[in-house]
Amino acid sequence: MVVGVHRPTQLVIDRAALRHNIHAEVERLDQGCALFMVVKANGYGHGAVQVAQAAKDAGATGFCVAILDEALELRAAGFNEPILILGVTSPADAPLMAAEGISATVAATDWLVDAQHYLDLAETLSAPLHVHLGLDTGMGRIGFRTVPELTEAIDFLGDHAALDFEGIFTHFSTADSPDDHYFKQQVAKWHALTDDLPVRPRYVHVSNSATSLWHAACNDNMVRFGVSGYGLNPSGTAIKPPYPLQPALSLTSELVFSKHISAGDSVGYGATYTASQDEWVGTVPIGYADGYERRLQGFHVLVDGQACEIIGRVCMDQIMVRLPHDYSRGTTVTLVGQDHGAEITLQDVADYCDTIHYEIACGFTGRLPRQYR
Ligand code: PLP
Repeated sequence: MVVGVHRPTQLVIDRAALRHNIHAEVERLDQGCALFMVVKANGYGHGAVQVAQAAKDAGATGFCVAILDEALELRAAGFNEPILILGVTSPADAPLMAAEGISATVAATDWLVDAQHYLDLAETLSAPLHVHLGLDTGMGRIGFRTVPELTEAIDFLGDHAALDFEGIFTHFSTADSPDDHYFKQQVAKWHALTDDLPVRPRYVHVSNSATSLWHAACNDNMVRFGVSGYGLNPSGTAIKPPYPLQPALSLTSELVFSKHISAGDSVGYGATYTASQDEWVGTVPIGYADGYERRLQGFHVLVDGQACEIIGRVCMDQIMVRLPHDYSRGTTVTLVGQDHGAEITLQDVADYCDTIHYEIACGFTGRLPRQYR
């Protein structure tokens, strides 16, 4: 994809904020508990390699990704730390993962059988494939659900030297909610599945950001820290974090054009906005092709610290905003971040779009350059 380096629109990523958030969590963890930074989906849109480096500097000792290609990106960038793929991979890639020291999530014994087949076919195998067994305690996504299923997998691992039982984990679906009723049910299911494990692997982990922030007693010896590392509250605004989170991402642009329009003039596709009085209108070079959602019509940006409404439909590459007066071309426009004491957070954008900040951050496309400060 083309990166728009000749356009004055960019994501600005604050490495110090990343380090602050991650280090604050590392400091809270019990001794012996590792923090693996979750950098899937290009580091939640922030840039996987840059986030991984900031996380490592802040004390993370491993990484989690969603797919094999994301793990390979980190290896190619020179990261030698453990990397766990959280999603289901292809058993045919077992030799590649073993060779790269990349750990696979396994959700069924037949996956292990197939992976063993491919490992047998590999001409040389310098290391075993590291395996984390995923348990479904109520998320309903992937994983073993009963003790007999789990026992079968553990027995299979014990019988095959090319497979290393490195970890076991689950994922909570409501750890970010003030209502812990379902969370407790999942904890009980986790204990029912794991209390009598015949072997305890190196990594036992249940915590995403929300669990680690608000249910740290569950952490065991590794946490998979994601969204809060980026400075975002997993609960939105429902629960206060134990330390101030610093959002790492800003989105800025510039006015490329401004004009005066008269009462009765319309703006944008569909002519959905008609000025009720004479007004100044600025054009900003960003649109839904950048992940700036079409639903943001009626939301606002900051110009000179003032909230300026997005008028007319969000186009593919441009938006129009109502200005309090004329501003010169090149005036900074803040779409996410702070300007003269005013702020637009990813949470504000998400609230307006009736979604979560995760989706907004991941949705910023590759056309937006990422600048690191
Ligand atoms: N663990 C698993 C299995 C996940 O799927 C995710 C994210 O989706 C995380 C950890 C990180 O979650 P969060 O970003 O809420 O910390």
